Amino acid sequence: MQTKLGVEFEIDFAHTLKDHPKCGKPHGHTAKIIIEVAGDVKKGDTYQDNMVMDFHEMKTTCWDVIKDLDHTNLNDMFDFPTSENIAMWIFDNLKERIPISSVKFFEGSNKYCEITK
Ligand SMILES: [Zn+2]
Repeated sequence: MQTKLGVEFEIDFAHTLKDHPKCGKPHGHTAKIIIEVAGDVKKGDTYQDNMVMDFHEMKTTCWDVIKDLDHTNLNDMFDFPTSENIAMWIFDNLKERIPISSVKFFEGSNKYCEITK
């Protein structure tokens, strides 16, 4: 049976979307980010066999990537810092490090982009 774990983070960032009628001026957002991993639980004799992965390790690894976005002008990192491009960047930077299954990137409180494996 596949089991999912999720961790949640919050970052603040600035961006400008060139030629966008509203987002063409510099502005900022607080973003919520939810990252999920998926896998099987073996139910063996060790604690590692009884979890998909350790929450602490998951949080530490995710933050090691996400911290580069926090309090940053994302136009310094992306030509077009859309939710889609930011979520894909997070997914790509984590996929070799954890068994990631999805990234949800909330731009503000009521809009989100989801990347799934
Ligand atoms: Zn914006």
